Amino acid sequence: MKIKTANFVISNTDVDKCPNEPLPEYAFIGRSNVGKSSLINMLTERKSLAKTSGRPGKTQLINHFKINANWFLVDLPGYGYARTSKKDKRTFQKYITNYFLKREQLLCAFILVDIRHEPQKIDLEFMEWMGENGIPFSIIFTKADKLKPKVIERQVGEYIQKLLDGMWEEAPPYFITSSTHGAGRDEVLNYIDTINLG
Ligand code: GDP
Repeated sequence: MKIKTANFVISNTDVDKCPNEPLPEYAFIGRSNVGKSSLINMLTERKSLAKTSGRPGKTQLINHFKINANWFLVDLPGYGYARTSKKDKRTFQKYITNYFLKREQLLCAFILVDIRHEPQKIDLEFMEWMGENGIPFSIIFTKADKLKPKVIERQVGEYIQKLLDGMWEEAPPYFITSSTHGAGRDEVLNYIDTINLG
């Protein structure tokens, strides 16, 4: 996919105020510092479409970008736990769960994980929550330039195995990316193309 246009549309915390055009939508989410802004800029070939960590605040919002006038790229805030008051049950921030539960035009979420790290509890729990709610997702491993190919293979293999040992019968689609090297760009964009056309 060639990115002809990539324009910021709106930021907010309320899923009901997200754009109501019936365009297919793809969301990007992960823990803060995972490399989400860098990845979005790399995918869209724009230097600062998504604000990198230097400018916090922006990332606390649901940010919609319109790509090629025919799909939305959604930059979601880094997730964390929010404690519900009555039951001491950990859950994810309300505006994030609302977004996923209500946003009908969402076709796929990309959950970003840093390829250097062991599977993190919060990421695994978030994937579990997505699965329980029937929300399709893929994994994007970020910062692959930081590891040698053999180590990448091992890290990814262990991550997928961890999912298969847990609640997953089948591994989700996954992509290995580096924003500094542009690795994985064609794969992610072609995947979006395939879903858009499907
Ligand atoms: P965000 O908080 O998830 O949006 O993360 P950022 O995109 O702001 O990146 C966090 C830090 O990781 C910054 O210092 C980036 O320069 C660095 N970073 C992000 N992506 C990559 C990557 O692919 N390779 C390397 N080496 N560093 C990266």
